[in-house]
This record gives sequence, C-alpha cells and structure tokens, in this order.
Amino acid sequence: MKYDLIVVGMGPSAAFLAYELIQLGNKKNVLLIDQGKNIKNRSCPIEKTGKCMKCKPFCNITCGFSGAGAFSDGKLLSYHMSSLGNSNDMYLGGNGGGYIKEYLTEEEIKDLLVYTDNVYLDFGADTHLEGLEYKDEIKKLQEKAAEQDLSLVSCPIRHLGTEKAHILYTKIQDYLEENNINMMYETEVKDLITDGDSIKGVVIKHNSSTETEEVYADEVVLAVGRKGASWLSNMCKVHNINTKIGAVDIGIRYELPDSVMKDINKYMYEGKFIGRLKPYEDKVRTFCQNPSGFVAAEVYDNGLTLVNGHSYKDKKSTNTNLAILVTHHFTTPFDKPIEFGENVARNLNSLANGHVMVQRLGDIKRGGRSHEHSLTNNSVVPTLKDAVAGDLTYSVGYRTMTDILTFINAVDKVVPGFAGDDNLLYGPEIKFYSNEIKLDKNFETNIKGLYSIGDGGGLTTGLMMASASGVKLARIISQK
Ligand SMILES: Cc1cc2nc3c(=O)[nH]c(=O)nc-3n(C[C@H](O)[C@H](O)[C@H](O)COP(=O)(O)OP(=O)(O)OC[C@H]3O[C@@H](n4cnc5c(N)ncnc54)[C@H](O)[C@@H]3O)c2cc1C
Repeated sequence: MKYDLIVVGMGPSAAFLAYELIQLGNKKNVLLIDQGKNIKNRSCPIEKTGKCMKCKPFCNITCGFSGAGAFSDGKLLSYHMSSLGNSNDMYLGGNGGGYIKEYLTEEEIKDLLVYTDNVYLDFGADTHLEGLEYKDEIKKLQEKAAEQDLSLVSCPIRHLGTEKAHILYTKIQDYLEENNINMMYETEVKDLITDGDSIKGVVIKHNSSTETEEVYADEVVLAVGRKGASWLSNMCKVHNINTKIGAVDIGIRYELPDSVMKDINKYMYEGKFIGRLKPYEDKVRTFCQNPSGFVAAEVYDNGLTLVNGHSYKDKKSTNTNLAILVTHHFTTPFDKPIEFGENVARNLNSLANGHVMVQRLGDIKRGGRSHEHSLTNNSVVPTLKDAVAGDLTYSVGYRTMTDILTFINAVDKVVPGFAGDDNLLYGPEIKFYSNEIKLDKNFETNIKGLYSIGDGGGLTTGLMMASASGVKLARIISQK
C-alpha cells in the first residue's frame, strides 16, 4: 500500500490537518491511522459499571477518532484578543501551553486561533464565550491573588461540554469520510520505516491480527497525543529523531464544593491560578477546571491509570474539579522526565490496586491516610466512584507535595474554603508532554518528510492549539 501522506493518530491535530487539506483542494491520497475506534463506537463503560474496566487493547477515553478530544470537557481557548494578551503563559509559551510559540509569531498564532475557532463554530460549537462579562469582579479577584504572589489569568473560553464535544467531532469525522480521507481504525502503528535520513512509511498491526504490515508514504505526520508520548519517545531513540529534554508536570486532581468555587465559576468558568511560592519556587498552576463536573480516569498503553476531569453541558454534580500541577525541570545528567512521571504514577497505582488514589486534605494535614469509611462520611462526595482511599504522600515526592499544599493554602486566601479539610486530592495527574521533538519552522523533524504536531511532541497542550497546529501543517505541506 502506498499513500502520499500518512498521519499517525486521529486526534484534533490530525482531524484539522485533514480538514484543512480538503479546504485547500489538496489532492493528496491521505491515510489517517488510529489504534482506537471510529468515534461512533467509542464509549467508556464506567458510565454503566461505575468503575474503570481498563478497556483492551486501548482506552476509549483517549483513543480513536478525535483522540482525547472526544470525552474532553471541550473547553476551547477563545481567539478573543484580550485573552491572547494575558494568557500567553498558560497556552502559548513554555511548558504551560506547548512550544508552538517557538515556531510561530504571536500574529500567526492569533490568525490560526481565529480560523480554528470559526471551524469549531461551523461544526456547532457554542457561540457563547465564558469569562467576558464580569471584568470588575475578575479584577478584584486578581488583586487578591497578587497579594498572595499568585497570578490569576483571565482567559475567555467556549465550553462545549463532554457530550457536545462528542457530537461535534462526530460531524467532523463524517465530513472527512465524505471528502475521501482514508481512515484506518483499530490499527496500531508499531514502527516507522526510514531510509537514511528520509521517511518511507510505517509498520502497522490491526488490533484483530497478530501480523504486521508495511504501508508506504513519502510524508508521515506524527500526531500521537499524550497517549502516544511514550511510544514516540521510543521511536525517537530507535530512529535518531532529535529531541530536547522537556519538563514534566506532576500533580493531583482537586475536588471541592461548587459553593466554594462559585465566584470563579460564575465570573470566569475556569480560573487559572499560577504561582512560584517558597521554598522551591517551582511553577505551580491550576489547570482544566470543571464546574459541577466529574473526576475521570484514563488508562495509558503502559497500563498506568491517570486521573483527569470533565464536565457535561447538561449532567451536573455539585463539585468542581481542577488539576493542580507542578512543573519539574531536571538538569543533566538526568534526561528521562517521562520515566520519572511514570514511576510516580506506577507507585501510586500499585498502592491503590491499579486505580486512582483519593485522599482527604484533612487527612494529609494530620499526617494520616484516608479510609473508605472516612470518605463515606465526607461532605465532599467523590465523583470518581472507583478511586481507592489511601495516602498520596507515599509516592508524590516531598518537593511536589510541599509545592501543592503551599499553593492550596495561598489560594485559600483568595477563595475561602479552598483549603477545606473535606476537599479531595486524587492522584496521579501527570501530563506527559515532556518529549519535546526538535522541529524546523515547517514542523519537520531531522528525518526528511517526517513531521510532528499536537500534544505528543510537546508542540501544544490543548484542543484549540492542537487543532491549529494541524491547520498550519496542512498549509505548509500544500505549499511544498
Ligand atoms: C478527560 C480529558 C479532558 C480534557 N479537557 C480539555 C479541555 O477542556 N480543553 C482543552 O483544551 N484540552 C482538554 N484536554 C486535552 C485535549 O484533549 C488534548 O490537548 C488534545 O486532544 C490533543 O490533541 P492531539 O491531536 O495532539 O492528540 P490526542 O487527542 O491525544 O490524539 C492522539 C491519537 O493518537 C492515537 N495514537 C497514539 N499513538 C498511536 C500509535 N502508535 N498508533 C496509532 N494511533 C496512535 C491515539 O489513539 C489518539 O487517538 C482534555 C483531555 C482529557 C483526556
């Protein structure tokens, strides 16, 4: 089999790459490959079983058409200029938002965001923007945050909600199929085929088969997301693809009553606190806030179960959840941030019998583990039903835990009740975008014809920027 272009992965970055090729009238014979399913066959059994069934061969939350986007909360960074002005740190620069800013100017990023936002609107995204109405109230909160050496970033967003995200991406999948994009589902890319310093194709294995096959193309795009970060890291070693040592974000998912978060939820929907507090002055931030949401588990290839969170447009809990993440940069001789994060996750998973672990903040403060009975009587009822009560401090390092607890206490001065004893910490929440691939300005690796977009190679860290990176690469490839 020979194609003009093969894309590994079908997340938002790949889907928008294919969409844009169609808009540009590009006649390339394109093949998208994903180890997961057609979006219409994707469902997470936890809805029925109440616990993570560790779907084999691949997790339905993170794999298949639209990748991690299908069950995401669908919070889309707005193109609104005011958001670009003050949200650089979160979305566009550094490890907080991927490294795309190193390759594109701010003006180019803005134009891409405007374009991508309009495509989402065309496919049915909500026209309402959260975070634009309550400017004075937000300013007061920002002033209070500054007194605690915290920044509170205001960033308008469009909220799809998990069920609406699924519908929207289904329409995109239909559109690509109608426009002759070849889609190969339930097929894993096991290896890359290179010839010297040029790409020649990929080695695939259908999930139902034990045999591998070779598929050829002179252009291959890696769009494997965080799910594929470990595989990608291995490919980089095997095929000498140049990388930089990135950072790793290690932290927890925090769940607390909506009543505590009511102002932030109402004024901003998502409040992005960032601080570099003493003694370590590591970057600590809140991320992916879900008002009236649900904590979720996701399973990775290496069998690790990580925690995440989402919220629906219609189905509501009475809890807000958000990630609190600490960015760790390691210096030489250590160059394995992904492995470091995996080790933290592996220890926590084994302490929790393969599940996500949950602990009351009050239990951490008194230096003890949480038990099932302490959670039964807890005022904050866990929304992730199969999380196992335990002691996160056995595995989350002293430095990370100190950063998180200091940060929680500082935010409590801005949002009273943020450090309430009954609030819950779930772990591990780890973001594996630490595998930063070295690219040129065309998103091409040192292997000729091999490109990387989206979260997997560290270029982006969210739906909107991942999608925008796909649009940009389609334009680059079409001009060649
Ligand atoms: C529960 C949850 C909630 C989220 N909420 C938000 C949110 O509200 N806002 C936001 O901006 N972001 C959110 N995110 C993050 C967002 O989903 C990602 O940033 C985005 O999906 C990245 O897109 P991508 O195309 O880079 O990769 P992904 O969406 O991760 O897709 C990668 C695809 O590649 C496939 N793949 C990987 N390796 C291989 C291989 N070897 N062979 C074949 N296929 C392979 C995977 O199966 C997957 O389908 C959330 C994520 C999760 C899990």
